[in-house]
Amino acid sequence: MSTADLTNADFGDKFAAIQPYVTSTALAYINRSERLKELVRTYQADTRTNDVVVNAAKPDAAWYNVPVVHNGETERGVLSFGPNTINTLPRLIEVLSHELGHYVVENPGAVSHRQRPKCRGRGCSRRERRGSAQTGRE
Ligand SMILES: [Zn+2]
Repeated sequence: MSTADLTNADFGDKFAAIQPYVTSTALAYINRSERLKELVRTYQADTRTNDVVVNAAKPDAAWYNVPVVHNGETERGVLSFGPNTINTLPRLIEVLSHELGHYVVENPGAVSHRQRPKCRGRGCSRRERRGSAQTGRE
């Protein structure tokens, strides 16, 4: 069974920062994947995630910071994308999928949150690995 296609409006809330990169062609690719659609909707509805960020200071890096608890207050998880990681159709699809993959497996309570993969190259950054050190994960 397939779910309804995502529309541009689905990138207007928490994904508003990357909405300009989600062209109609990109949207059509995203809608080919039930799992990718599901992950966008899951992130959108998750009370432990913040608005997605486009970080011009780190143009070639993308990462997901897991939620962290400080003094009983939860600092929400957030996806961050450098502009160069999402500025072509293949990069957008690849990096969005990749980082949503981190999101879905690494949140507290997720099945493999202790098994943060080591990502190098265009997708994930050094910042991501520092983030994992801060939360005591490997
Ligand atoms: Zn990665």
